[in-house]
Amino acid sequence: MNLADLTRYWGKTRPQQQAIVFGDTSQTWAQVDAITDALARGLAARGVGKGDRVGVMMLNRPELAHVILATLKLGAISVPLNFRLIGKELAPMLVDSAPRVVIVEDELASLLEEGSAAVDFEIFAVGGSAHRRYESLLDVGTAPVVDISADDPAFICYTSGTTGAQKGAVITHRSAIAPGLAQVVAHGISGRDRAMCSAPLVYTGSVLSIFMQLVVVPGATMVLLREFDPEIALDTFEREQVTATTTVPVIWERMTMLPDFGVRKLAKFTFAGAGGAPVSLDLLDFYNDRGVPLTQVYGLTESSGMASSLTYADARTRPGFAGLPLAGTRIRIGDGSVAPGEVGEILVRGEHVMREYWNKPEATTATLVDGWLHTGDLGAQDEGGFLKVVDRSKDMVISGGLNVYPAEIEKALHGIDGLVDLAVIGVVDDRWGEVPMVVFHSDRAAADVVADITDVAGRNLSKYKWPRHALALDEPLPRTFSGKLAKAVLRERFPMAPT
Ligand code: AMP
Repeated sequence: MNLADLTRYWGKTRPQQQAIVFGDTSQTWAQVDAITDALARGLAARGVGKGDRVGVMMLNRPELAHVILATLKLGAISVPLNFRLIGKELAPMLVDSAPRVVIVEDELASLLEEGSAAVDFEIFAVGGSAHRRYESLLDVGTAPVVDISADDPAFICYTSGTTGAQKGAVITHRSAIAPGLAQVVAHGISGRDRAMCSAPLVYTGSVLSIFMQLVVVPGATMVLLREFDPEIALDTFEREQVTATTTVPVIWERMTMLPDFGVRKLAKFTFAGAGGAPVSLDLLDFYNDRGVPLTQVYGLTESSGMASSLTYADARTRPGFAGLPLAGTRIRIGDGSVAPGEVGEILVRGEHVMREYWNKPEATTATLVDGWLHTGDLGAQDEGGFLKVVDRSKDMVISGGLNVYPAEIEKALHGIDGLVDLAVIGVVDDRWGEVPMVVFHSDRAAADVVADITDVAGRNLSKYKWPRHALALDEPLPRTFSGKLAKAVLRERFPMAPT
């Protein structure tokens, strides 16, 4: 099976069913199949063939989905590029992936300048006139016939690291499809589902976990929002009778603030996922109390976005856990010989795991060992095999020989009045080697926040976990483009506690 054949299959077997809904417009699977055939012909006429890379950078709009599917139909590799990056950050990705063609929204084309100075590719733009027009790609002619195997690369997804070389995870057709089938098996996702995508369709969580897994695999409908806005998202849930979505906890959290949530007539959800960061029981309670079966999921780009999920029933008895491996996935801690509850690196194995890092054999060898993906996350499994994600291994602090997990301290400090933007990192210490330091941004007076931190840590954490320093920043904390705290940036800026 491959994603191109699936697209054609739904075009033939569900021609009248909506495939993409965008604002007041919608397209059926037959239309999407025809448009992506035309686009594939146009791209082929520009020399794009099997294995070539096609970059795409747009805010959410149907053309973005079309470009991805047309690329896949040619056996070419789709490279979603994030428009929130700056030109300097994009250039290494363009050099690394060396696309033959990049298709952009005209207003974003200037972001490609640094990259196009270093590597040759043709730019096609939706709208505007400075570049060749996207519409010129919608060609008529003979459809290219390409043999695609499940193990051919479908995507290069660049990981959200903030320092060092960005690594492109090579996701094959098989690895993109496998978690979709696991969702069908586990939750009964089907062609009747209507999956909302509100985050940019260039993130792993959107392009793989929603578009491929909830839409293309089951032949369902994608309800695409131009941008995330909590009110529009909730309106869309109701108006479009959305039944499936998955996104980061912060987006679910922002919708909880809406006063009229309780009066909306929402459809019965088949699947509602929250992942990418720890999910609080409060958040799961909020949605489950209102009939939305919010489920915690855990995964990473290198595993096509998915690895485990925790049902709400299990979340009640195992708060803070990230669940059981998906159907067809195996998870183990370290070499597999650790006792239940013992913390070690989380390893993942299954068809959804990436094939390699593009052009980075050494990083691949270090990350994929004997078929096991080394996630760089620390976690533990209980007797029942339920996974708990403790922290990223890079973020762990070793203080006086003891492991301190910043995520645990951050969790303890959340809830302090006016303290939402905070991170805990390790700083060098003469006596203990490293000690935890809180870096925060708050509207309250720094001295008051620090007093609260001391108080809350003193009451809730063992002494070796107490933050020994606290530093107030005038500006919000740096974040990665997907909204996660950029701890590597903080560690680089503050290797020691400022005096
Ligand atoms: P990315 O590759 O950008 O999707 O980031 C994946 C990383 O997000 C994982 O390696 C984890 O560190 C983190 N992550 C994802 N899901 C969860 C979760 N449910 N709980 C805690 N951390 C998570």
